[in-house]
Amino acid sequence: MELYASPHPLGDYLDTHFTCPCGREHYAPLKAVTIGPGALESLPGLTKKLGYKSLYLISDAITYDIAGKRCMELLQRAGVRAAVHRLTHTGFDEATVGELLIHMPADCDLAVAVGTGAINDMTRFFSFRTGRPFLTVATAAPMDGFASSVAALNVDSMKTTFDARPPVAVIGDTGILSTAPYPMIAAGLGDLLGKFTCLCDWKLARIITGEHYCERIVELVERCVQSVLADAPRAKDRDPAVLGDIMEGLVLTGVAMSLYGNSRPASGCEHHISHYWEMIFEQQGRRPVPHGAQVGVGTVLILKLTEALLDRRVDFDAARAAAAAYDPQRWRADIRAAYGPAAEGVIALEGRADKNGTAGRLARLDAMQAHWGEIEALLRALPPSGQIMQALRSLDSPCTPAQIGVDRALLRDTLLYCKEVRARYTILQMLWDLDLLEPLADQVIGSLEE
Ligand SMILES: [Zn+2]
Ligand SMILES: [Zn+2]
Repeated sequence: MELYASPHPLGDYLDTHFTCPCGREHYAPLKAVTIGPGALESLPGLTKKLGYKSLYLISDAITYDIAGKRCMELLQRAGVRAAVHRLTHTGFDEATVGELLIHMPADCDLAVAVGTGAINDMTRFFSFRTGRPFLTVATAAPMDGFASSVAALNVDSMKTTFDARPPVAVIGDTGILSTAPYPMIAAGLGDLLGKFTCLCDWKLARIITGEHYCERIVELVERCVQSVLADAPRAKDRDPAVLGDIMEGLVLTGVAMSLYGNSRPASGCEHHISHYWEMIFEQQGRRPVPHGAQVGVGTVLILKLTEALLDRRVDFDAARAAAAAYDPQRWRADIRAAYGPAAEGVIALEGRADKNGTAGRLARLDAMQAHWGEIEALLRALPPSGQIMQALRSLDSPCTPAQIGVDRALLRDTLLYCKEVRARYTILQMLWDLDLLEPLADQVIGSLEE
């Protein structure tokens, strides 16, 4: 079947092989998504339909009370065999995986993660390693990782990414989601609003570097995020319909990543900002705010940078002169200062990716100059930074770096160097190509309230 030309309901994208005018085939292995009021009630029927006979519910004391207890009642009433474990320790670590293994019923054929965050990630890993599929019953929707196929674990106190597996199904009961704490709701919204800048990055890359692009996937994610932004003011009243839309948007972006085969549809420069903060905070032994909250602040910063760019005349000849004068040795020194112990990995990545070399940059500048009108139109189509700030503020969520413990010096390093964490082409790399990253970063930093 061909991937739909206009967005369809989420369920139509699941477990179906698509051809696409973009030239690629798309497939998302997730089999079922149930989001809505009373969605929890669908658990017994869904597991029967999927053919599972012995369930292993994984919760902790909090998520057991929120949803685990009710899941067990529903399953028992429907005659589905199920055991539940309440984790005594919930972390991204060996101890949690050990607990999962110790309490697993020998005949279990489906794990059910009741929760988000560590419960979901550790079940995802456990599921992959034991060869038993899993299903997620979400108790909150703070990020878009539901359909992810990797899990991060602290092994020997080192954060390591492992292969894992996506769930067979996701259940999001809006009655439960609407009771989630504001910071969780705001984080989910922040992660979702970051798709504006991330999709813009992809469109820019298509024009500037000729990167492969799937118009239909972009449109799917974009429509969804636009409708959530329009309804965002109602999130503060815990409107279950809006919270359901946010959760569905987060699952949908996860599905979009599956369909495309990598994170291009869901992660751009706003995520590079978050990855950089995550790393620096870890080096400093500080605890960062949730991922989605960082992405929300990152999105605001990127929008401010693009607004500053649109106010300026771009001088392509000056940019070409800067490209010719590029000094890799100085770049390496800057990276060592900005990345500390992580610098060598970043330098090695540049060795493979050559994001900054003169020849590539000159070619990109030619493409930009030839298509500058089109690029400006893309940037002008982004939502104003003020609108995103307002949506975040209405949920008492941070929208400036100072509010999340990022001071001006760290912010400057972030804007100038976070683009180096991945090889992906983004707005930040475009500003650097234009030799405008530093002045625009300083302008935006100067404009922020303390
Ligand atoms: Zn994210
Ligand atoms: Zn496609």
